[in-house]
Amino acid sequence: MSQIYRGRIAPSPTGYLHLGHARTFWIAMERAKAENGILIFRDEDLDAQRCKAEYSESAKDDLKWFGCDWQEGPDKGGAYGPYEQSKRTDLYLNAWKILKENKRIYPCTKSRKDLRKSKENHGNNDQEPIYPEAWRPSHDVGDSMQFPNGYNWRFRVPDNKKIDFIDERLGPCQFSSSIDFGDFLVWRKDGVPSYELSVVVDDAAMNITEVVRGEDLLISTARQLLIYKALGLTPPQFYHTPLVVDDTGNRLSKRSHSVSLKELKNQGYDPDRLRESEYWWSGLEDL
Ligand code: GLU
Repeated sequence: MSQIYRGRIAPSPTGYLHLGHARTFWIAMERAKAENGILIFRDEDLDAQRCKAEYSESAKDDLKWFGCDWQEGPDKGGAYGPYEQSKRTDLYLNAWKILKENKRIYPCTKSRKDLRKSKENHGNNDQEPIYPEAWRPSHDVGDSMQFPNGYNWRFRVPDNKKIDFIDERLGPCQFSSSIDFGDFLVWRKDGVPSYELSVVVDDAAMNITEVVRGEDLLISTARQLLIYKALGLTPPQFYHTPLVVDDTGNRLSKRSHSVSLKELKNQGYDPDRLRESEYWWSGLEDL
């Protein structure tokens, strides 16, 4: 019997959601429905400094208002959620231990600021500079440590390794470790597991068969594939959605205070009409 489709909606409650999120989650829902599958809700609320309960609540209400729907409650194989990452840190810690024992990660004392200031290769992306090889410690640093806290822990990426995957919308994608990205964080000094680690652990634990998310996370997918491999887990398939842009061609983001779903709701917009708007369709021509 083939595996049942399981997708997820996984917002981070660091602000109110905007139309770009709604579109990605709408597509996730459509794809789950088309496969007669399950869609679960996961609140990615690990960063206590940036996440707020108010945003978590609003995300659910605003997405429901918009017409997004997901399954909740128990299912035969476990649960449909909703899940909160902040209640699942034991799982991330377990993954940290496996990676540490297998010498795939190391503690480092350099901050992101040090990295930004480094004159090293900035790679092929505009995200984070490549972590300088000279800053890597020897393999046995951290062996005796029982807990990650107090250090930034980085995943030691293989040198110049091609990471290939098929995106269900974009087709074949390829990135190269140490060229497109360098050693990346799996655990932060302040005790917070990174997005890259927590999302892999959860997608595997929740038996997610397809991850639908924005195209801005393509390079994260490449990083995450390295974590799947290092943990001996089978990756799901991936579908990256095009990003919604505003009148000036900039993509919508929480940081640039793009108009939120909450505001649209309060202003009396009709979600059915919004889904006919030009914003909704931007970049979707190829779907
Ligand atoms: N929580 C992430 C975000 O809101 C998305 C994670 C994902 O879909 O992998 O950007």
